[in-house]
Amino acid sequence: MGNFYTDVISQDERFSSVKRVSDASLLEPTTRELVAAIVSAAHRMGIELMIYETYRCQDRQQELFNQGATKLRTVGVHHYGLACDIVRVVAGEPSWKGDFSFLGQLAQSSGMIWGGDWGAPHIKHSFVQTLHVQRCTVARQGDLFDGTWFPDEAYNRYQDDQNLLATVIKPPIKVGATASKPRLNNQRT
Ligand SMILES: [Zn+2]
Repeated sequence: MGNFYTDVISQDERFSSVKRVSDASLLEPTTRELVAAIVSAAHRMGIELMIYETYRCQDRQQELFNQGATKLRTVGVHHYGLACDIVRVVAGEPSWKGDFSFLGQLAQSSGMIWGGDWGAPHIKHSFVQTLHVQRCTVARQGDLFDGTWFPDEAYNRYQDDQNLLATVIKPPIKVGATASKPRLNNQRT
């Protein structure tokens, strides 16, 4: 059965575009709705936001990595239409300045994960992306990247059994099995 990634993203002419894509139509529909809700909630708070980047392909991720703009060489949730980078608007221009913790609160209240704490605010994170929101838990990313899972309309990360703790608890090592390498693909964003 198809999903937004197979049916829409992989068919889009921008699938391999190295240019930044800010078009919300390349966000999976529920993600698109939640992002719109975040932008309008911020507007009511007197904060103007703009969608800065939605879809991103591997070639662009590599380019950003080469430029030192990201620590991550491999594209993550953006590639699946489930992540969005949001910036402020100052005098009509995108702005990265200032505190973005309000975005964490808005993301949480809309059911999204914020890259400022990855949904786990009590854990110290070595990697934070305060402009980034995504509609799946970090624990789900491996399945998403493997192509074995894609959130349906009803998916709610708060009711996801494969909960956030899985990101900090190492998987048990099976007797007789060699320890598996840490899942570095979970680090993409
Ligand atoms: Zn991002």
